[in-house]
Amino acid sequence: MRRGKAARERAPTAERETQQYTVINPATEQPVTAVAQASGPETDEAIARAAAAQQAWRDVSPGDRGRLLRSFAAEVDAHIDELAALEVAGSGHPVGAARWEAGQVRDVLMYYAAAPERLIGKQIPVAGGLDVTFAEPLGVVGLIVPWNFPMPILSWGMAPALAAGNAVIAKPAQMTPLTAIRIGELALAAGLPEHVLQVLPGKGGVVGQRLVDHPAVRKIVFTGSTEVGQQIMAGCARHVKRVTLELGGKSANIVFADADIERAAATAPYAVFDNAGQDCCARSRILVEAGVLDRFMELLEPAVKGIRVGDPAAEGTEMGPLISAAHREHVASYVPEGAPVAFLGSAPEGPGFWYPPTVLAPVATDDRAYTEEIFGPVVTVTPFSDEAEAIALANDTPYGLSGSIWTGNVGRAIRVARGVETGNLSVNSHSSVRYWTPFGGFKQSGLGRELGPDALDAFTETKNVFIATQE
Ligand code: NAP
Ligand code: MG
Repeated sequence: MRRGKAARERAPTAERETQQYTVINPATEQPVTAVAQASGPETDEAIARAAAAQQAWRDVSPGDRGRLLRSFAAEVDAHIDELAALEVAGSGHPVGAARWEAGQVRDVLMYYAAAPERLIGKQIPVAGGLDVTFAEPLGVVGLIVPWNFPMPILSWGMAPALAAGNAVIAKPAQMTPLTAIRIGELALAAGLPEHVLQVLPGKGGVVGQRLVDHPAVRKIVFTGSTEVGQQIMAGCARHVKRVTLELGGKSANIVFADADIERAAATAPYAVFDNAGQDCCARSRILVEAGVLDRFMELLEPAVKGIRVGDPAAEGTEMGPLISAAHREHVASYVPEGAPVAFLGSAPEGPGFWYPPTVLAPVATDDRAYTEEIFGPVVTVTPFSDEAEAIALANDTPYGLSGSIWTGNVGRAIRVARGVETGNLSVNSHSSVRYWTPFGGFKQSGLGRELGPDALDAFTETKNVFIATQE
């Protein structure tokens, strides 16, 4: 009898046995720290806590919600260097970039901290009464965050979701949980009520899957691969769960002969090798008008060779390592023996998941280096003959996230910008994401838009209420 009871008590304990995941510094291959991984039952408990906390959070007055989010932003601001150091150690981001990323969390929080008092409904003229709309929170929102930009991508979902009165459960990528965990602590230090924001480290197939499957989670914001994004969308369909997807890209950097070729060539490496190419916005296909191809390549070579690749903790480093050995192997598979390597940048010897900036040309347009997202520092260069061909090449991909257009002709800039099927384009620049403008993809690069003034719409439901005035 006693034995039986003990066995019954042990069963759930075994199911809950805490798994640990050791975070590895990608620049040294040394362990950084071990992080407890949430189980399925623990995820369910977190969802229940979030649902309860959300009931009170939605009733916090708009002014107080805004004030709490400003305090949260101030906490982040006071810990920029600490957060950056965590991202250097846990993700291999160059320290300058990591500071910018932590600053982005602060800025996105500040931007949406102004939202609670501005979630203004409409009063619509009707006969016999008053008709008003409310922007109601959804409830519990699940954020599934990838490893490439752990801090910014967390903030893009977290800040507007909280501002709109939702509770948030964030699942960082298994490989890069450290900054998200710290940001969760900073939220509590800023005075956010407990369980309004929970950071739940764990595996995608466990914690992420549970967020998708659990009916009390009313929305999923996912950034990552198109393949997993498709599964998540299918999973969400069972509950008609709201979903925002930011997926892969294979963006074009189109350089016309009438452009400032010096600037186009000098900046092209940073548009693809930033974050070691682990960027969904990477302009990983350079398309160059045939007449200036030779000149462009001449100028591109020193720009690529000049990229400072090395210790991410050192000030001035421009490119760090890839995230993991497995990912480096995946990237290297796009540059097999005999690949048309035009030139290479540098990479340190020794430990670390290093891969040099690599330019491939000429590459056939059916080569997988040209058609697939590599997510590493590998770029292809392809000539085109005229504007129509440039647009056709840029659009010949299932993706549509970003892109750049270099030309001195303003009419052409506008024609091509309207012709390229992507969500975010820069003309004569490679602008990165601005938190106050909308960001998202066409085609298989995603669904919905994040950031900018309209992101609140993605975290609220419109409720229409008619109040009769007749007696
Ligand atoms: P991924 O598998 O799509 O991972 C993204 C996030 O989804 C991670 O938090 C992951 O958890 C989680 N996840 C994985 N399977 C899941 C599931 N069945 N249900 C719910 N959540 C799940 O991406 P990856 O494997 O890291 O990278 C593969 C490729 O995706 C890259 O090479 C790149 O091409 C692309 N990618 C794109 C972006 C982007 O910004 N658009 C970002 C990352 C990757 P784990 O922690 O367990 O992985
Ligand atoms: Mg994966």
